[in-house]
Amino acid sequence: MDSPYLQRRYLVSFESRRLPHIFADVVVIGAGAAGLRAAIEAAPYGQVILMTKGRLQDSNTYYAQGGLAAAIAREDSAESHVNDTLSAAAGLGDEAVIRHVIARAPRHIEQMRQWGVSFDTKGGELSLGREGGHSAHRIVHAQGDATGRALSEVLIERAKGTANLKIFEQCFVLDLVTDPPGGGPGSVCAGVLTYHHRYGLQMIRARQTILAAGGAGMLWRETSNPPNATADAIALAFRAGVVLADLEMMQFHPTTLYVAGATRSLISEAVRGEGAYLVDRTGCRFMGDYHEMGELAPRDVVSRAILNRMGKTGSTHVLLDVRHIGAKAFADRFPQIDQQCRRFGIDPGKDLIPVHPAAHYMIGGATIDIDGHTSLANLLACGEASCTGLHGANRLASNSLTEALVYGERCGKVAGEALAAVNDKLTARQIDWAVAPSDRTELDLVDIRNSLRSILWRNVGIVRRGERLTETLEIVNFWGRYVLDKEFFDPAGWEIQNMLTAAYAITECAMRRTETRGVHYREDFPITDPAWARHQRVRRTEHRLVVE
Ligand SMILES: Cc1cc2nc3c(=O)[nH]c(=O)nc-3n(C[C@H](O)[C@H](O)[C@H](O)COP(=O)(O)OP(=O)(O)OC[C@H]3O[C@@H](n4cnc5c(N)ncnc54)[C@H](O)[C@@H]3O)c2cc1C
Repeated sequence: MDSPYLQRRYLVSFESRRLPHIFADVVVIGAGAAGLRAAIEAAPYGQVILMTKGRLQDSNTYYAQGGLAAAIAREDSAESHVNDTLSAAAGLGDEAVIRHVIARAPRHIEQMRQWGVSFDTKGGELSLGREGGHSAHRIVHAQGDATGRALSEVLIERAKGTANLKIFEQCFVLDLVTDPPGGGPGSVCAGVLTYHHRYGLQMIRARQTILAAGGAGMLWRETSNPPNATADAIALAFRAGVVLADLEMMQFHPTTLYVAGATRSLISEAVRGEGAYLVDRTGCRFMGDYHEMGELAPRDVVSRAILNRMGKTGSTHVLLDVRHIGAKAFADRFPQIDQQCRRFGIDPGKDLIPVHPAAHYMIGGATIDIDGHTSLANLLACGEASCTGLHGANRLASNSLTEALVYGERCGKVAGEALAAVNDKLTARQIDWAVAPSDRTELDLVDIRNSLRSILWRNVGIVRRGERLTETLEIVNFWGRYVLDKEFFDPAGWEIQNMLTAAYAITECAMRRTETRGVHYREDFPITDPAWARHQRVRRTEHRLVVE
């Protein structure tokens, strides 16, 4: 039987002539670093609308702690940053892209500084942190561990003050609209279908659309991501037939605060960069047994080592020892983490901090070229929604905010310039779609959401096995038959449809990659296979999954 995820093109039925229309030159989906930077860059060229499904602060960007990577220090070099990125990428990094991003990183940091981000300094120079996999101090940060908030606030203010740029908050993008509506060869992106609780469904027609809708952490039970990271970008692109790559590459962060019942807030890698140790429940410091870089080994190594140690010691977590850093020094350098620990009665100056790995960063996404073009005409993508090849099979810490700025700027410019070059007039040409009614039972959506997150954590998590992946696919397809055949009328239902769709595509990719590479660890194929030193690309065609 066909997978239910291959049949669905749009989440709801619509007749465009009955919908309110808004016309824009450029539509940007997402208000993280990538979307905001893109929108600011595109605005001088035409009317831009930037939309976000929540508030402007509800993004992965806002929660970023460690900082932005750039080879700025005198004793550092772009070449060394390139080598570290390539080495973490485990044979899948695209060297041209890596050089492209790293060469531009210092300029973007300087630009953010000029726009008003107060990066931390020491002796009048930028204070540079160190994180796992980096061979030098090169992480620029702000307000200690509140880099994301500082960056977001500056970009949001700048976007609000930019002429030609309108911001729609609480505006949920259901689907990319293509002309013709069914997609397929020769189709173009014509804008988006949106929902706002006050205005209902709307059709926003645009000459250029930029997908910057972020990551997918909420697919896993344990995640560092905020609640709105529900993989909408992957699902929107998948339904529209856009080519996606490297979806099996989900990076797990080794250390999120583990307090039963509490959300998993991140304990930045920079804490280990400042000298924190990982110890097991018996107090034994163990990372030296797993990697010569110890606590600063690449994230996949540390995450697996922690899981292994938890198994060996029969514990639900391991512990981070920061006591030797000193209570005051720790609170000064990591004020947010310090407060978060204290909220749960943990005094970092005296107590060990319980930590556990969690889903953190989606490496895969819509495949783009160096200018941000996706496989669908008039659609660009940037940030976590995209797959540039920078991270390969494993992201080096703090390279993603840098990437979001570099590609955000590029997409905004490319979209803007395309307006002048392409003389296509925006029309309200009729675009309709009908979803066939379903008489199948409706499942409990909250239950499905929780079960989906649990099964992905267990079976498509840090350690994977073929039969578990097959079983997961069967279950996800089963749920899909009851959830993807329905039409929902609010974001809660659409988010679950998106999560299931993305889970299907991710599990398919994880099952097909029969090797271990970077963040993708297959217990049944523990060796890296040179024949697999390639990206895995997927796309939906009418009723078929194409995997190349
Ligand atoms: C806790 C944490 C710490 C991190 N620390 C670092 C760090 O120190 N350094 C680093 O480089 N990276 C870090 N990362 C990763 C980094 O923050 C992200 O990769 C980056 O911010 C992604 O930016 P983005 O603009 O692509 O997406 P996001 O910032 O996630 O923004 C996505 C936007 O899309 C919107 N959206 C999603 N779906 C829809 C929809 N259907 N309709 C409308 N809008 C939608 C969201 O509301 C949001 O506005 C961290 C991530 C987390 C979670």
